[in-house]
Amino acid sequence: MKKIYQSYVEIAFPPTCVCCGISTSSEDRFICSLCRTNRFEIVGDEQNDILPSTVKFVNTMWNFDKGGYLQDLLHKLKYHHLRGVGLELGYLMGTNFLHRHSQEELDGIHEAKPLIMPVPLHRSKKRKRGYNQARALGEGVAKSTGWEILKPGVIERIKKTKTQTGLNLKQRSENLRGVFRVTDSQPLKGRFPIIVDDVFTTGATTFELARVIHNLNEQSSGIMTVAKA
Ligand SMILES: [Zn+2]
Repeated sequence: MKKIYQSYVEIAFPPTCVCCGISTSSEDRFICSLCRTNRFEIVGDEQNDILPSTVKFVNTMWNFDKGGYLQDLLHKLKYHHLRGVGLELGYLMGTNFLHRHSQEELDGIHEAKPLIMPVPLHRSKKRKRGYNQARALGEGVAKSTGWEILKPGVIERIKKTKTQTGLNLKQRSENLRGVFRVTDSQPLKGRFPIIVDDVFTTGATTFELARVIHNLNEQSSGIMTVAKA
């Protein structure tokens, strides 16, 4: 019965790409193959320009397209409670990461016991949006890489921040001081933190989280995001 209903739904409402709106062939894919593989510009390997000492690498998948499909997709991901889309994008991020690293590098990361840490949302924002899109992305990354993901609640966002728009990195960093709190340092011990977020702009947010984590056990973090603004 469920199957008949499902095919009815597919005829009446054929699945469409959440990103560009064209119909997708496979029933469990939210993003069409064109958007997944060809629509967006892959970020080159020159992405590790100037990083703080607490950050080992930044791996962003696509260049942000202001006013384009990707901006729209990430906006929907944030505000429309699209967990499945987050999982799919996260899965792509993980695959993208595996493709750009040698087996030797990946073995090194594996030995360092990677632990995926989605950038937490403030409680009130999570309540409003219904979920944390960074966690959905992190779960997708976990699926394609096989790395473990930190359970929710270990790192909290305890301060709401004013808008970061128009601020430079230094001002943003000051704005973010004291935003994150680690409630239990035990799960982080001896692990290689992989911070996951949707967009990398100046890096202020992920750098602040890396700083807080470094203060605990002196580990440096890796950062992975969908897009680079
Ligand atoms: Zn599409």
